[in-house]
Amino acid sequence: MAFRFFRPDMAFCDVYTITPEALNELGVKGVVFDIDNTIAPYEVERPTEKMNEYFASLREAGIKMAFVSNNQGTRVTTFNEGLGLFYVCKAGKPSPKGVRKCIAHFGLDKSEVMAVGDQIFTDCIAAHRAGIRFAIVKPIQPVESTFFRVKRFFERPFVKKLEWLNPKNAMQKIRNRKKKAKDE
Ligand SMILES: [Mg+2]
Repeated sequence: MAFRFFRPDMAFCDVYTITPEALNELGVKGVVFDIDNTIAPYEVERPTEKMNEYFASLREAGIKMAFVSNNQGTRVTTFNEGLGLFYVCKAGKPSPKGVRKCIAHFGLDKSEVMAVGDQIFTDCIAAHRAGIRFAIVKPIQPVESTFFRVKRFFERPFVKKLEWLNPKNAMQKIRNRKKKAKDE
């Protein structure tokens, strides 16, 4: 597998930086979200008010959304109860199957869909194998098991050179990159 599979296309400090405006600028019409440590910590069963507002803002902007989680069904269905989004649980990422299902469900071109997650070896690879862009976010809870610490250690080479976008710089940086890509 080529190294590009391991490299996120973008890096955001958190999901809330991925605004409808940012997605519009990126030409993204559908987003495939990971749940655990991307949107919510493991123990938060249902979306908070802030999360609900965020999803509502995307929905209002006509952005299609779905969840792809490696976690079990009840975790996903409970979290998704009030949202009613399309979802795939026990997705087995890095398998691209779940992401592919979402693209088909959206009825969008691959170029219009982006995945958002916190892990390289599951989320990033699944997205890239499915042929879509991947935006990494900083994991919500940095304190994890030894297994996760080992994983994060091996993720480091793919993450360390990323330019992290935050609410203050995101729009400008996205526009700059677009301009640069056009000029090249
Ligand atoms: Mg995760």
